[in-house]
Amino acid sequence: MSEDSDLLVNDHWIVSMRGNKNNVDPQKPYGLLVEKERTISGKIEDTGIIFLTNRECPFHCLMCDLWRNTTDEPVAIGSIPKQIAWALDQIPGVKQLKLYNSGSFFDRRAIPVEDYKEIASLLSNFETVTVESHPSLINEKCLTFRDMLKPDLQVALGLETVHPQILRTLNKQMTIEDFRDSVSFLTKHGIRSRAFILLRPPLLSESEGIYWAERSMDFAFNTGVECCTIIPVRAGNGAMDFLMGKGDFNLPDIHSLEMVLEYGIGLNKGRVFADVWDLGLFSNCNNCIKKRTDRLIEMNMSQEIATPIKCECNDA
Ligand code: SF4
Ligand SMILES: [Zn+2]
Repeated sequence: MSEDSDLLVNDHWIVSMRGNKNNVDPQKPYGLLVEKERTISGKIEDTGIIFLTNRECPFHCLMCDLWRNTTDEPVAIGSIPKQIAWALDQIPGVKQLKLYNSGSFFDRRAIPVEDYKEIASLLSNFETVTVESHPSLINEKCLTFRDMLKPDLQVALGLETVHPQILRTLNKQMTIEDFRDSVSFLTKHGIRSRAFILLRPPLLSESEGIYWAERSMDFAFNTGVECCTIIPVRAGNGAMDFLMGKGDFNLPDIHSLEMVLEYGIGLNKGRVFADVWDLGLFSNCNNCIKKRTDRLIEMNMSQEIATPIKCECNDA
């Protein structure tokens, strides 16, 4: 880790580094896609992801760019169910769903509690529904929503990293003990959880990035999460670009993502996925980027270690 960084990260600085938000419509999700994912039972199924438009997350994590597609004020009661109904019309037949809201589903200023019932009724044909939340917002409200819901509820929580100093620097306003308590609460109430883990957050070298992603996965599975998703850290939100320019952040390498995914699958403690969006960002080798992307997707689907890619860039 870089010892001579004078990095002072706080809400004010992170927000001051931002560019403009995108124009969003509070009556429509800002994104919708269907991708294949391996379910807990081992089947590969279409999974819908609805990117709900709602109020900006009250936390300001250093690496986050999700604020781009959010509103400044809470959306009206009824807007979220309307967005979900619109999206579901586009993806008939899908049985697995993620509702991602650029923040925390259980933030009442993002998703009004008054809308829970209607949301639950819209989701009655699904088998699983995954929502995301900051660990500090995991409480009885999750159970209220779960009790209204027919599909299995799963909650995705950002652990990010267990490196104590880096976790503080990320401005996540959370300790690893908070994360553990939230997972325990969910597990105690029969709700499965998934951890988001960062590959190479700022101030770490490539090898430290790999080491801490692996330790973070160890920790996450020990707390009882059912699944981990490894996210290679990107720039693009202002603050991260500044750090990159200063040499305090570098994009991780796709080889590292492969190594960390292999490690996680080898643990055999639960499903482990690599985030495979925009992988071209993490490779300088046109010869193998396609093959490596396919390999990561194959491992995501099979949860087995696929044959390594041979390429000159392995020795670079
Ligand atoms: S809690 Fe999640 S959505 Fe909110 S700022 Fe942090 S990373 Fe972004
Ligand atoms: Zn290569």
